[in-house]
Amino acid sequence: MSGIGTEQLRAWDKRHVWHPFTQMQEWEKEEPLVIVKGEGSWLIDSNGNRYLDGVASMWTNVHGHCRKELNEALKAQVDILEHSTLLGLASEQSILLAHRLSKITPSGLERFFYSDNGSTAMEVAVKMAYQFQVHRGRPERSRFITFKNAYHGDTLGAVSVGGIDIYHATFRPLMFETIPAPAPYCYRCELGCLDRTTCGTQCLNSLEALMAKHAASSAGLVIEPFLQGAGGMIVQPPGFLHRVRELCDRYDLLMIADEVATGFGRTGRMFACEHEGVVPDIMALSKGIAAGYLPLAVTVTTEEVYQAFLGEYAELKTFFHGHTFSGNPLACAVALRSLDLFESDRLLEALQGKIALLSGRLASLARLPHVGDVRQCGLAAGVELVQDKETRHAYPWEQRVAIRVCLEARKQGIFSRPLGNTVVIFPPLAITTEELTLLLDGLERSIRVVTGE
Ligand code: PLP
Repeated sequence: MSGIGTEQLRAWDKRHVWHPFTQMQEWEKEEPLVIVKGEGSWLIDSNGNRYLDGVASMWTNVHGHCRKELNEALKAQVDILEHSTLLGLASEQSILLAHRLSKITPSGLERFFYSDNGSTAMEVAVKMAYQFQVHRGRPERSRFITFKNAYHGDTLGAVSVGGIDIYHATFRPLMFETIPAPAPYCYRCELGCLDRTTCGTQCLNSLEALMAKHAASSAGLVIEPFLQGAGGMIVQPPGFLHRVRELCDRYDLLMIADEVATGFGRTGRMFACEHEGVVPDIMALSKGIAAGYLPLAVTVTTEEVYQAFLGEYAELKTFFHGHTFSGNPLACAVALRSLDLFESDRLLEALQGKIALLSGRLASLARLPHVGDVRQCGLAAGVELVQDKETRHAYPWEQRVAIRVCLEARKQGIFSRPLGNTVVIFPPLAITTEELTLLLDGLERSIRVVTGE
């Protein structure tokens, strides 16, 4: 640690650091926490205060902060090779990781294209899908079917296939056009079917109608399987994903699954697609891949897609895309060790009890007068707060209700970050049941305080 005091660090932060997704005018008036240390599920600030990491450091942390085995893997690798490019060279750790991942990714997904964050993994997916169509002799198939409320990252391709107006609308003049399908956000269904048990999943009928109309001009469909994360922790009804796969097959569309947030155990299985036995044509992975230690991403695809890019040098069938830090050896070494820990800690088995604990607590939270909807997918959940439970009337944006809940929770030693009016629960997968209980107690108390119950 630098030994520089909190006030100086805060002053330099406000003077120089422009924070992501942050209104800096407000930030400059605040006294931000300056995190200097991590320990298991806890973050420790420059004043020595401890905070439970309720969002797994932006949905990345798997085995806890500063896990001994991961630290050792990183330290060992740094003395061997810190970085070497994948442009024109192979590197040991990236080979080992791709080989290891090929044993656990859905069957048939065995070709790995490395990059270094979730947005780039999705840029790769979108460009790969389109170029595949070009190689098949279908260059007119240039559009993508997307979902409202979707989030796939912040680079322009990823923004184009996203669907959250508040983040994306400003950039519309820079974006390519897509075909947005209704999302299965059952609590606020845009098709007016407010009960997912009786609606017959009308959004799937709309999706099929869109495909029938636009498939001939579309390369593929882009989906966050099972859980639309940034859209507000919106969980798809059972069977939805499977049906989407069937429709992609029927209309000859590549299915691109964005498992950047759901991959590596978050939903209770290694990958969300596994819940419905779905194998996408292209899958994007990042966040938890290196256990929250280092930036790493991979876009995985099938032999069929890969083979379409093969040809003579002069044919220019090459995939002209790449990033300087693609397949960084330090990140790959940590990712490999993380996969060992999934096995030795029996992490997915251990998760089931925590998922059940979360379900029970969400059921009681749902009874609070200002909790409109609770949504859970594995060890991820959203608690949507409403001004009026009967009419589902939302709190006005400017009341910042979920932000105030998080600020209240901070006083109780919890760090959380909301999505609109939804309180998010997304802790490190290795959180203990005692810590999870602390987190849920603290959030419940904070919701009660802020909503005046
Ligand atoms: N895709 C999904 C589903 C995400 O949740 C995110 C980030 O939250 C991204 C892509 C973008 O990842 P990154 O922030 O690493 O670019």
